[in-house]
Amino acid sequence: MGILKRKIIEIPVEEVKGIEKLAGKIMSIDVEDIPAKFKKVFEESKDIAYKNFTMKALYESYEIDFMGNDTIRLKNGITLRSKTMAEMFSKSIELSFMIITLYGYDNIEGSIDNMLMEMFLDSWGTAFVECGQTWNIKNIAKGLEEYQLYTTYAFSPGQGEIPMELQLPIFDTLKPDDIGVSINSQYMMHPKKSISGVIGIQTEKDEKAIRPCDICDKKETCPNAYA
Ligand code: SF4
Repeated sequence: MGILKRKIIEIPVEEVKGIEKLAGKIMSIDVEDIPAKFKKVFEESKDIAYKNFTMKALYESYEIDFMGNDTIRLKNGITLRSKTMAEMFSKSIELSFMIITLYGYDNIEGSIDNMLMEMFLDSWGTAFVECGQTWNIKNIAKGLEEYQLYTTYAFSPGQGEIPMELQLPIFDTLKPDDIGVSINSQYMMHPKKSISGVIGIQTEKDEKAIRPCDICDKKETCPNAYA
């Protein structure tokens, strides 16, 4: 059994920091000085997002049984094959799988005939779920402090060399049907604005740990890079 028991959390949007800043970054808009031509749609899309979007997180941790150069075997029998993950979690004693999802976006997407509004809502959706994930990791890290345990950054299937196929062990183990999340045969998630990831739990604090953006092919063009 891992230290983090299976848990479903309703993420309190009012506690999640940085949503507006990140949404602006994705829209390429300075939220401190929004150009007049975007102001109305920005405010309206923000209003729709805050009235309709809610988030949940599901996570659980599992003890590590064996760590190789490109393999991590957990005590629950699950094996993750990824050189990057083996490297990132080399000091970890447990791995926590997590899924964060955004409700309210998929219903709105496609029902709006204003392309700019649609793009802005897409940006709000991404900003909500990305910042929701950060809130969730910080919340886990805070809970582990009393045990003098620390978390790594979160790494997701599809980042760098980490195979998309690793969605399968995450989904098979976490069983996120309980929060309404599923994957298709291409490992894409539904609801669309969902994030799956893995964090390591370790006894050492690692201030210079490699971040997911460091290994991501999209870091040169991604508006969220290092956000
Ligand atoms: S560069 Fe962008 S897509 Fe890649 S890990 Fe960073 S935030 Fe995610």
